[in-house]
Amino acid sequence: MIRDDTACPSCGKHNLALKYALNDQAYHTAKCRDCGFIFMHPYPSDAFLHDYYKTRSLYNSGNDASSYDRAVADRTALITGLLARGGTKPNGRSVDFGAGVGIAVAAQAALGFEALGIETNPQAQAAGHEAFGVDIRDLSLEEMPRDLSLFTLFEVLEHIKYPREFMAQVRTHMATSGAVAGSVPNYNSYARYLRGKDSNALYWPEHVNQFTRETLTQTLEGAGFEVVYVGFPPPYGVVIATGLRAWLRKVLPEGTIVCRVVAAITWIKKCLIYPLPNSFAEKTGLLGHGLVFVARVRA
Ligand SMILES: [Zn+2]
Repeated sequence: MIRDDTACPSCGKHNLALKYALNDQAYHTAKCRDCGFIFMHPYPSDAFLHDYYKTRSLYNSGNDASSYDRAVADRTALITGLLARGGTKPNGRSVDFGAGVGIAVAAQAALGFEALGIETNPQAQAAGHEAFGVDIRDLSLEEMPRDLSLFTLFEVLEHIKYPREFMAQVRTHMATSGAVAGSVPNYNSYARYLRGKDSNALYWPEHVNQFTRETLTQTLEGAGFEVVYVGFPPPYGVVIATGLRAWLRKVLPEGTIVCRVVAAITWIKKCLIYPLPNSFAEKTGLLGHGLVFVARVRA
């Protein structure tokens, strides 16, 4: 079906309020006055995005083994928490879509799923097999296995044109007790208030959708899911970066003193500075840098 890439991708109307001129000024961030969806206007053409992604390198490739171990452990902890919220048992088939080198696939396999990664980047299969021994393939959504217990997509839905239709198609591949989980940048992040078009949420040309807690919920519900949780578990909460630690590492000689000072600043941020804004973020949906979600298939 040919879609009108100048209309609101959620409701198809043209009643749009332009918010930001993006780095290519032919594109703006727009908010639909009818349904509230926020997105890149116009949507870039499929041909443009295809060429763009073909030349971009694979996320997270070329890291050393210890950073991969940490990344898998962190992702496993995050998915475990989301499964608990969704009441999903870690067994049966799972897919991580937009798998990159396979960090979330390795996490799902470690939890007991029969896990598969889907990734279009041609380097992914080899990189994923080498780093984690996991199965990563370049499949279309139609070719994806069915009867999935879990489908995850971390930092993916903001890249996909017409995300509700995409998730509705995912739903047809889910087991009746299945859950979907993932993350997207938060449009209402602290960084977007501070840096506008230069914030991660508005990254041109990759981030074609900008989600708030409300529009992410609408998207998932419209695709046939029941949203269980949308929030900011670590490390997706409020990010206040001053560059102080990086600066100290640069100006002070390497050694125990700089390590202790940096560790002290890290402790102060984690234990004293972040708890209040993070609890504000959980309550309101504002300021956190990424929205993490889990939703169940609606009967
Ligand atoms: Zn709309």
